Amino acid sequence: MSSDSPGIVVAIDGTSGSGKSSTSRGVADRLGLRYLDTGAMYRAMTWWMLRHGVDVHDPEAVAARCDAPRIACGTDPRVPTITVDGEDVAAAIRLPVVNDAVSPVSVVPEVRARMVRVQRALIEEARKGAGIVVEGRDIGSVVWPEAQVKVYLSADSSARATRRAAEEGGSDVGVTEESLLARDRIDSGRAVSPLVMADGAVHIDTTSYTLADVVDRIVELVELVGSDA
Ligand code: C5P
Repeated sequence: MSSDSPGIVVAIDGTSGSGKSSTSRGVADRLGLRYLDTGAMYRAMTWWMLRHGVDVHDPEAVAARCDAPRIACGTDPRVPTITVDGEDVAAAIRLPVVNDAVSPVSVVPEVRARMVRVQRALIEEARKGAGIVVEGRDIGSVVWPEAQVKVYLSADSSARATRRAAEEGGSDVGVTEESLLARDRIDSGRAVSPLVMADGAVHIDTTSYTLADVVDRIVELVELVGSDA
């Protein structure tokens, strides 16, 4: 790739707990790319709605307020940061109360339109350099369909729940699995930008692979694209 061509975009979509975040950060770090966690942005929006007493099950109420929060995401894969109105919410957005509210907030078209606008601007910025790994549900299908590499990660729900419960510091695996499956149902069934495997995506079932294996596989895919350019 010539040095003045725009940087690469690697889209990594998939279900909750399929290993998207660790994988995406690992790939970005290995390849010297920026990193964007779009799930964290929807979580930050949800955190703000809860903080301001907005009924997250009332789409009109959510739509009416969704331009208000100032959400800022850092794109360093080693130190991902997220603030809302200047407040660090990196820990707060992972709380169960946010897990349970994020999918209903994410179905609201006005929320999605705003998030997609911000995400595209961050991607444009990163493309002035080497590029970016973007993780989410609709990156390869809606946010950046022209991504040079698209990956769809999945894993058995029990494997996903075991990983996620460990990340959360030992939550109950059964409860975590129920929460993941509930989010999957809403994310896959919504009218706007449902979770789907994008055209041209490479599907990797991570159930029986280590994180390092999956990172290696995606780095290879990116290098293949680079050698074609
Ligand atoms: O990836 P993570 O589990 O943190 O995402 C939390 C939620 O944010 C998802 O369950 C989904 O409802 C929403 N989301 C989305 N579109 C994205 C990323 C996340 O709707 N691109």
